[in-house]
Amino acid sequence: MQSLYIPHLLQRTERTQNILIDDFIPGLDTLMPFRGTLSIRHGGTFLDIKVKGETIVTLICDRCLQQYNHRIIVDTSEIVWLDKNLSLSDIPQEREVSLEDLSETLSPDGHFNSETWLYEQLSLAMPFRRLCGKNCQQPVVSDCVENLSPIDNRWASLECLKQKFSQ
Ligand SMILES: [Zn+2]
Repeated sequence: MQSLYIPHLLQRTERTQNILIDDFIPGLDTLMPFRGTLSIRHGGTFLDIKVKGETIVTLICDRCLQQYNHRIIVDTSEIVWLDKNLSLSDIPQEREVSLEDLSETLSPDGHFNSETWLYEQLSLAMPFRRLCGKNCQQPVVSDCVENLSPIDNRWASLECLKQKFSQ
C-alpha cells in the first residue's frame, strides 16, 4: 500500500481504482493482515472511498485483564472533499488545522494515503468496551478488595493476583 496520486484516478476506467489489500496496518496490533478491498472513485470535487474487509486484533479484557482475539469487520465508506485552495504549504503556520480537518479534505492534485485512512477506519471499528466474552468473570477483585472505583480495578486485580500467587 502506498499513497495514491489523486489526478491519476481521472485516467482510470470509471475514475475508480480498486485495490486488493492483504497487509498489516502499521500501528495496529493485529494477529493477521488486514484482508479486503479498497475502492477509490474520483467524483470530480470529491473522492468516494469504500472499504470492505476484516482482520483480528489482540485486545486486553477490561474486566479480567486476559488477552483475547477480536474479529474486526469493516464495511464502510467516506466522502473526502477535494479543495483547490488546500495545499499544505499554503496553510499559514498560525492557523490551527487539526488532523481531522485534513483527512476530510484533500488537495485535488495531492495524494491520498490509503494506509492512514484504513488505520482510521479500523480504529473507529474497535469495540468501545473490551470484554473477552459473555462468561467473563471478575474473580480476583471481589474476594479480596471491595468498593473500588473502576479506575482502581485494574490495579487491584493485579494486586489480588499477586496475593493469590504468594499464598
Ligand atoms: Zn474477561
